[in-house]
Amino acid sequence: MVHAIRIHDYGGPEALRWDEIEVGDPGPGQVRLRQTAVGLNYIDTYHRSGAYKLPQLPAIIGTEGAGVVEAVGPDVTTLKPGDRVGYAPLIGAYAESRLAPADRLIPLPSWIEDRQAAAMLLQGMTAQFLLRSTYAVQPGDTILVQAAAGGVGQILCQWAKHLGATVIGTVSSDEKAELARAAGCDHPIVYTRENFVNRVKDLTDGQGVPVVYDGVGKTTFMDSLDCLRPRGFMVLFGAASGPVPPLDLQVLAVKGSLYVTRPTLFSYVAKRDDLMASAADLFEVVHTGGVTINVGQTFALRDAAEAHRALESRATTGSTVLLP
Ligand code: NDP
Repeated sequence: MVHAIRIHDYGGPEALRWDEIEVGDPGPGQVRLRQTAVGLNYIDTYHRSGAYKLPQLPAIIGTEGAGVVEAVGPDVTTLKPGDRVGYAPLIGAYAESRLAPADRLIPLPSWIEDRQAAAMLLQGMTAQFLLRSTYAVQPGDTILVQAAAGGVGQILCQWAKHLGATVIGTVSSDEKAELARAAGCDHPIVYTRENFVNRVKDLTDGQGVPVVYDGVGKTTFMDSLDCLRPRGFMVLFGAASGPVPPLDLQVLAVKGSLYVTRPTLFSYVAKRDDLMASAADLFEVVHTGGVTINVGQTFALRDAAEAHRALESRATTGSTVLLP
């Protein structure tokens, strides 16, 4: 028997229970992993609260982790016991040990520590598709990143800077402004005291930006649209403040032929080749120093409720790792 954090009903952080579970032997196509580090992501709170419904309850939440292969299923030839791997996105991560499909696992290069892998795979591959695919950032672009001191936010800032962009970012406090600046954000805006639409207009000579990366959602969406230049891209990739209400599409015409997309990592890395290409691109930019993964805080896995409270009250910065 091992321990895992499960929910039996949707709810607040108190819904997270430290349960004993049986993992069993890996079946065809599966491996059993002993997990050494688990990534905390905002999606975990959506799964916990029921904002995103799970197929069945009780369920082990969490979508990112790293560890060591303990056993492989009868037909698995690509991995062997002792191999170090990481994964994202794959539900069932908040556990000391788990079964996982071999074709969703990413072998870890020796220079990546397990904690670093669990801190960066989901947020880093998200930054990868947002910056390289959803809207391909060009040298000379000036872009806007909401929640620039957060997990995805700090990686977006660094990577966009590495691609030659000028980065404007929003944050809620002066402390977070300093963290965003250290992550390459040229113009952190403390939105709690300054109107970010006006500031973005000032910084772009009234033109607006070609793309806004917005993982905050409800409270920022309409203002983010007002930061775009004509034919700009509104990339809504999350809902930390809540879901965006239905949008009258005519608004996009009035504001200048804007584009809106609501992308998810799942659809960008559904095929194994795409998963491996995204991870390789991420590993490359980290290995060459273009992006540094900032683990702002760690928690014991059994204290996942405390970690959720911190994330939802904006008390975390950078990435967060849960330790089994
Ligand atoms: P963060 O570390 O960015 O934490 C969320 C941040 O959002 C907070 O720190 C806070 O920053 C800001 N925020 C603004 N309003 C609120 C609010 N009402 N409640 C809580 N936070 C608020 O989290 P992640 O990096 O894990 O994720 C960022 C976003 O990216 C999330 O929306 C997540 O769902 C999304 N995401 C989407 C993916 C996809 O595939 N589409 C994949 C990965 C993440 P501040 O204090 O500066 O306001």
